[in-house]
Amino acid sequence: MELSKEVAKRGFRSWYERQLIESHLYLTTCIICAFGVAAFIEAYRSSGGAARGLIMLLAAFLSGIVAIHAWQRYRGMMVRAQRFADKATCTKCGVYGILSVTDASRIAHPVYDERGVSKADDTDGAWLRVQCKHCGHEWAI
Ligand SMILES: [Zn+2]
Repeated sequence: MELSKEVAKRGFRSWYERQLIESHLYLTTCIICAFGVAAFIEAYRSSGGAARGLIMLLAAFLSGIVAIHAWQRYRGMMVRAQRFADKATCTKCGVYGILSVTDASRIAHPVYDERGVSKADDTDGAWLRVQCKHCGHEWAI
């Protein structure tokens, strides 16, 4: 589901909570698969036949691929959730996360480093224009 619709439907706090839960499921998957890699490599060492050993190596490789993917998803979700959470406090009244989405885009705001050079790796540049439900103040996150 698109970010703006998800935040509008569930509310920011619930969206944030779900991001944390889902990302930690990815972290758990990553850890389990990392243990799987070790277990399959150990099974490869103790395997007698060449075919069984090949299957264990393939399983270790696939566990490693899943672990890497899960780690990347975990990291990406946490960075995005934290990026939005850092800006979810109303600067006018100080209320956290009580907001409604008024506009959204997947087009990135240009992000520049301290030297004024555009960061090309800002691929997840989605932004939301939000309004505080408490005082009506609007800002972009
Ligand atoms: Zn406010």
